Amino acid sequence: MTAGGLVAVRRGTNLDRVGGFNDAVVLDAIRRTEERLSRVELAEATGLSGQAISNITRRLLDAGLVREAGRQRGNGLGKPRTLLELEPTGQYSVGVHLDPAVVTVVVLDLTGEVVARRRVETPYGDNPDVLISSIAVSVEEAIEEAKAPRDRVVGVGIAAPGPIDVERGVVVDPPNLAAWHLVPLRHELRARTGLPVLLDKDVTAAASAEKWAGGPNGRGSFVFFYLGTGIGAGLVIGDEVIRGSSSNVGEIGHVIVDPDGPVCYCGRRGCVGETSQPRYLVQQAVQAGILAQGIDLDDRHAVDAAFAELCSLASGPGIAREIVVALAERIAKVVEDIANLLDLERVVFGGPHWEQLAPFFGDAVQAALEERFLVRSVHPFEVAGTALGADVGAIGAASLVLDQTFSPNPSVLLPELAVER
Ligand SMILES: [Zn+2]
Repeated sequence: MTAGGLVAVRRGTNLDRVGGFNDAVVLDAIRRTEERLSRVELAEATGLSGQAISNITRRLLDAGLVREAGRQRGNGLGKPRTLLELEPTGQYSVGVHLDPAVVTVVVLDLTGEVVARRRVETPYGDNPDVLISSIAVSVEEAIEEAKAPRDRVVGVGIAAPGPIDVERGVVVDPPNLAAWHLVPLRHELRARTGLPVLLDKDVTAAASAEKWAGGPNGRGSFVFFYLGTGIGAGLVIGDEVIRGSSSNVGEIGHVIVDPDGPVCYCGRRGCVGETSQPRYLVQQAVQAGILAQGIDLDDRHAVDAAFAELCSLASGPGIAREIVVALAERIAKVVEDIANLLDLERVVFGGPHWEQLAPFFGDAVQAALEERFLVRSVHPFEVAGTALGADVGAIGAASLVLDQTFSPNPSVLLPELAVER
């Protein structure tokens, strides 16, 4: 979770503030710098006095959040400076990504490295109680695998499909989890694990992960386009994650991209979400005669297998390729509107279906956008795939929890992300 340079380091205050604020400022400065820092450099970066830095680093060393990591010779004179870096084992956070098809759980150490992961299929029938219990088991297994001492696990972040009620920690009515209606997921997982729990939207978590750990893809202004069971868009504008008025930003699934397309559950035809589902593409391939008849479109496993076959057929020219390119064009239409509306630099694709589509999809989207992106004469528009793979939502959820450690005043910065304790 390194994000280059010292450009965005927060400034500390030398007034008599409680330690917590400045401790977080210093920790954040260490996190944001790819190099290890000396106390002198920390003072320069944060605006804190040498004495304050000395006290804070002592506290952070004692708390096991920071460690000394070698020495740096000054410019010939003076004694060598001790360098500081984050102690990876100082804290851990757990991230859970609830996708209607698969639940991913990761554990991050303090530096943002994934130190354990679990991926389990979302049980059929999607009974909330059964599913939440299975998530709790996965969380415990992942913590154990990470060998993370319980008292060093700061909390669990959940990335869930929208819409969500962030204030109450409730998953409202996810379209692809039919049995889920007003499920108090934050409270239930808190009760089962005993850990503080935070709930956010899947696409927002994914966009945060990209911002923190995605390298160059995560800088500036971009849309994270999530391709999973349902699609959605997370937004980062000017290096800031955009949440909207109720943290439900990015509900783009019902933008109509094909008025003659299949009927969506919302009652209209040709919504981008519906026409992006493997089920629809498989159906098209069966009708075109390139996949065998008789695939049960209500059987998730059968559809997944057929979708994998379609994607592998699409690597060569032919109807399979045309089906996938047509999907890329439908999605490009939505990307184009978002990009033009918000003057973005980039789309980053990710989500459970991305890896299979990636080999040919990126170029197809780029080609479809080529002629249409209005500000192309001013700046280019990039099409990228996440570097974080299928774990991106879970990593994002865990990094939202870690952010609380690094934010001088998280309750002010993220009022809507109140952690249930
Ligand atoms: Zn719809």
